[in-house]
Amino acid sequence: MTPPLGELALARGTVDRLTERRTDKEWVDAAWKDPRTRVLVVSNGRAVVREDDERVELVFVSPEEAPAGTRFLLGQDADGVVYFGVSGELPTCAGREAPPASLREVGTLLGDRDAGLLTHAVALANWHDTHTHCPLDGTPTVPNPSGHLTTCPVDGSEHFPRTDPAVIMLVADPEDRCLLARNAAWPGRRVSILAGFVEPGESAEQAVIREVAEETGITVTNVRYLGSQPWPMPRSLMLGFRADAPAGQAIAVDDEELAEAHWFSREDLLAAIEARELALPPPVSIARRIIEAWFGGPLPSTWPPPPRP
Ligand SMILES: [Zn+2]
Repeated sequence: MTPPLGELALARGTVDRLTERRTDKEWVDAAWKDPRTRVLVVSNGRAVVREDDERVELVFVSPEEAPAGTRFLLGQDADGVVYFGVSGELPTCAGREAPPASLREVGTLLGDRDAGLLTHAVALANWHDTHTHCPLDGTPTVPNPSGHLTTCPVDGSEHFPRTDPAVIMLVADPEDRCLLARNAAWPGRRVSILAGFVEPGESAEQAVIREVAEETGITVTNVRYLGSQPWPMPRSLMLGFRADAPAGQAIAVDDEELAEAHWFSREDLLAAIEARELALPPPVSIARRIIEAWFGGPLPSTWPPPPRP
């Protein structure tokens, strides 16, 4: 069965994550010595890519060529090739390489294998880069052979990669108009559906109801789950929902978070996009897919991609 949102750009991947090998130091060391092994180097959320006409591919290096940095096992493909990630200085290889690219830039352009590898590698690199010390006593922690766990050498506490759940929801009124808002921090005419982090001790559905009320004063019912996509910028898992807003409610925008929020019919939304009065999130985002699922098909216009350095 096709999920309601179709295939999400960053929720792809074809390699086996090899969870059973993660504590097997001998196997991991042997895989790192195998010349067939491919290493994806990530730095500040970016990796080196190669662009050929319409195709964009990741550029891997051999373990020998890999820079110093934290190493982590990503998995193994159907041909038996093992993939590692390294958080370190990006390789500079002569050839047809394009500038280093982020998930936002190439998430929809990569094939399934590469989209999954880059998403996984960026997520783990972000965790390693920001969780270097034991939270209990401040001692530098030591990664295990596969880089999926760190241990404090003083108190033995174990630390696992973090993912922050966030909810993102399309709210519709009884006329099936969609609530779109402009975040106060966004420039220009960008609008999107509402989103926010799940708080400790809260369910995702409770977070949907709370966030919509906080940001717009609207009470929602009938919260239902649509699908999810990792968004490791730096470490979110976006959980997509629909919710209904019963009639007779006025929008009261929380102006610390939002600049404005309005109801849009399908016709109003299309007209506003075509008149360039507003722009939607890019196709790599789950927000865009949720809006298009409500609309009933693809919509024109995207946010301009961020400039390449
Ligand atoms: Zn410790």
